[in-house]
Amino acid sequence: MKKIFFLFFFLTSAVFSLAQNKTTSTEKPKLVIGMVVDQMRWDFLYRYSNRYTPNGFKRLLSEGFRCENTFIPYQQTVTACGHSSVYTGSVPAVNGIVGNSWYERETGKTMYCVQDTSVKTVGSTTLGVGEMSPKNLLVTTITDELRLATNFHNKTIGIALKDRGAILPAGHTANAAYWYDSNTGNWVTSTFYMNELPEWVKKFNERKLPEQYYKQNWNTLFALNTYTQSTADDKSYEGLMATAKSSTFPHNLTDYIGSNYGEIATTPYGNTMTFEMAKAALESEKLGQSGNTDFLALSFSSTDYVGHRFGPNSVETEDTYLRLDKDLADFFTYLDAKIGKGQYLFFITADHGVSHTPGFLQENKLPGGWITDIRKSFATAIEAQFGLKNVLLAEDNNQIYLNKNLVLQSGKSWTEVKNFVIDLCKKHPAIANAYDLELAGSAAVPLTIREMVINGFHPKRGGDIQLIMNSGYVFGGGRNLAATHGNWYPYDAHIPLIFMGWHVKSGKTHQNTYMSDIAPTIAALLNIQMPSGTVGKVITQITD
Ligand code: ZN
Ligand code: ZN
Repeated sequence: MKKIFFLFFFLTSAVFSLAQNKTTSTEKPKLVIGMVVDQMRWDFLYRYSNRYTPNGFKRLLSEGFRCENTFIPYQQTVTACGHSSVYTGSVPAVNGIVGNSWYERETGKTMYCVQDTSVKTVGSTTLGVGEMSPKNLLVTTITDELRLATNFHNKTIGIALKDRGAILPAGHTANAAYWYDSNTGNWVTSTFYMNELPEWVKKFNERKLPEQYYKQNWNTLFALNTYTQSTADDKSYEGLMATAKSSTFPHNLTDYIGSNYGEIATTPYGNTMTFEMAKAALESEKLGQSGNTDFLALSFSSTDYVGHRFGPNSVETEDTYLRLDKDLADFFTYLDAKIGKGQYLFFITADHGVSHTPGFLQENKLPGGWITDIRKSFATAIEAQFGLKNVLLAEDNNQIYLNKNLVLQSGKSWTEVKNFVIDLCKKHPAIANAYDLELAGSAAVPLTIREMVINGFHPKRGGDIQLIMNSGYVFGGGRNLAATHGNWYPYDAHIPLIFMGWHVKSGKTHQNTYMSDIAPTIAALLNIQMPSGTVGKVITQITD
């Protein structure tokens, strides 16, 4: 009997000590830091790595867990959709963010993703710049769920030059989101969050960092002739800085002091300033010091502005990544000192990639080119066929919106008109395929594309006809747009994803993972509820 009692005692204490171990392993990180690098293609992690410092991207590669085949699971690979998907674990069909903007059928106007005229600008006299909130986002974010899980005892702050890069990640319950007013050079917010800027943001604005950066001009970090990963600096398909006559280094920025606060975004200094703002927020808001897990959602917009203006194969892009790497190394050193190594959970990803510059593609015998607006020629063809004007409402996010009511009122067949427009699209040399979005589930396209289109389609906000572009073909063009993104192809949809820090072992997987897996993976790591619209899966190689 005694023996049995001892055995019982031994077993229960063993179970108890296991339970105790489990308790220690559920302790929370002090801070979660999300870093979205706007327009960072996956290959940029490696492309410039011979000159990356040991403590920036290379630290992520060696210390972090790398998901090397992370894809965007929907078709419209643009900024608003990317930031929303990362933070909601979801897709536009569910979270409602179907583009940076979309055609709104009720009003007949374009709706900007974070537009909200019921709120006002805080921190500058520029009216429209602060009329922004996450009200168009239809589900919760991982940042919302963390607020809920701590019963609102933690802090969540979003920071980015772009309003949508700050607002959508920070979610509905954020303590603050700050973005950049290119008219005044100030960081601003909206009355959705607060009625007056905190003292620390006012002080930050008083530092007038854009002017300090402008004084330094933009020259390459290393000698220009060592930028062997890029095409020559003087390509006619590259865009120009605001007052520049040529697209080559050095880029003179002193001209913009006091007159143009927007051009800072198209230099690496835009990212440097974002890091400075992040550090000011960490310090002044005492992030990671409350005993509850705080969340700092950062997005670095300058990589996107530089990529659009000069193209992904330009010296400007290479230099921007080399400088971002240095800034990132400094930021890690700062975080280790302030928060403590292993005490914060960090992840890096991108909102989308980018296609090569059509000029570069053609120069190198690769497929691709610009497509100019198709609306005018299509409208003419529709009128000639059916005698109807204004059938074509909009072309947004590779979808065509038609005026169904007008067609029905005219007594013409809706199906006939729609099929006529589909045929027009199919005949276009830059369009690979086009089909009726009502029949998206049975479209004769590869399953990957079919799924991406369905995931990107929200019936209230989407169009009637889906366009599938040919590889390398993009809408737009003009002297100041060298390259862009927005299609299903891997150059736009294959993004970096690395987790590092609190409870993350180094390692990697080449299994396919998705942008929408990020939020449920964080939820699993933090033992909190996943966002309400989650369709992604937990990346168990990280959590187990
Ligand atoms: Zn973007
Ligand atoms: Zn972009």
